[in-house]
Amino acid sequence: MTNYDILIVGAGPAGSAAAIQIANRQPDLARRTLVVEKAVFPRLKLCGGGVTTHADALLAQLRANIDVPAFSIHALKFTYQDVDFTFRMQNVFRVVRREEFDAALAQRARERGVELREGEALVDLQRDDAGVSVQTKSGTYRAKVVIGADGANSVVRQKLGLMRWDRISRLMEILTPIDAARAPEFIDHTAVFDFTPIARGVQGYYWDFPSVKQGVPVMNRGVFDSRVRPDRPRAELKPIFDDALAARQIELDDAHLQGHPERWFDASAAHSAPRVLLAGDAAGTEPLFGEGISHALNVGMIAADEALRALARGDFSFADYQRRVAWSAFGRRVRFKRAVAHVVYGNRGAWFYRLGFSTLRWIFGK
Ligand SMILES: Cc1cc2nc3c(=O)[nH]c(=O)nc-3n(C[C@H](O)[C@H](O)[C@H](O)COP(=O)(O)OP(=O)(O)OC[C@H]3O[C@@H](n4cnc5c(N)ncnc54)[C@H](O)[C@@H]3O)c2cc1C
Repeated sequence: MTNYDILIVGAGPAGSAAAIQIANRQPDLARRTLVVEKAVFPRLKLCGGGVTTHADALLAQLRANIDVPAFSIHALKFTYQDVDFTFRMQNVFRVVRREEFDAALAQRARERGVELREGEALVDLQRDDAGVSVQTKSGTYRAKVVIGADGANSVVRQKLGLMRWDRISRLMEILTPIDAARAPEFIDHTAVFDFTPIARGVQGYYWDFPSVKQGVPVMNRGVFDSRVRPDRPRAELKPIFDDALAARQIELDDAHLQGHPERWFDASAAHSAPRVLLAGDAAGTEPLFGEGISHALNVGMIAADEALRALARGDFSFADYQRRVAWSAFGRRVRFKRAVAHVVYGNRGAWFYRLGFSTLRWIFGK
């Protein structure tokens, strides 16, 4: 059995950010840190691929420049039925392919001396007073601290008994071919957020993100249902997605339709147990847009700092982690977005959205 100080489960944005932060802060600890990753890079990750300026600022803090092929977005078009308004800002976000982005980020962690074992899924863990025993499909490890960064279906979270199924957002996505020379989204570098599905009980929106896969333009289309109001009835997402695509003259190709959950961050819930911290989608993200890359980077960095503090003090209770995350810039941002999501995705009636969109249009112009 090999011993490590810190073992990170999952090499998505949260896990890789945690690994890079550890190596940046304490280079000697990098070789005593292990990342186990279920997949082998480059691996697919269902995602719109929208990397915000906030995410890029965090990457700059990590000194991890991720210069992968991207499509720059200069305008956000928000619509509800026949009302819309467009917010313009140069490089408001860039659309990447996650298989390229995540592989490059994991590589940055490796370059800093952190060991990354791919194709090695965690299957179980046991905590005791001296550390954590981690079983993967290939072996057993011992670590003083484990960071669970294994995504929305986190096995680490499940093993801690902290799973809550009423904090889960639903997302569906499909890539469609596009004639980029004629598509206004490509010509004007515009991402579309269509809130029309709210009228049918979706607590979210339909999106069109112009994207490029292996040099070929494709449209990344999806639907996001935050379920930030779990007390309300669940919308039938597939027929709603079907109709949104039909309105754009696209037939839903079931063979290529994919779905994946997100977890929305509940500041009052536990996100750690003694010796184990959760980060990224394993902890949760914001329920307004479902933007998770920046938040995964952010909480990955917070978890890394928490692990380093524990090693320095010899106190592995992580009793303060929930408060620290909740009152971090991430926690404040997510609380604000959750409050807005409650208002926007409440059962308001069409007049509310029409009035809201008209007001925004009047304030910002088209
Ligand atoms: C359809 C869809 C569209 C989205 N669009 C956007 C967007 O445009 N912009 C944005 O900012 N966010 C978007 N998100 C959210 C974003 O993808 C996530 O918030 C982000 O990936 C979270 O990063 P993470 O590192 O926490 O988890 P993940 O990216 O899910 O990474 C977790 C890693 O853990 C590994 N893993 C899982 N289980 C195990 C195990 N047992 N053992 C070892 N490794 C394991 C996985 O293979 C994976 O590599 C979208 C999400 C979905 C589902």
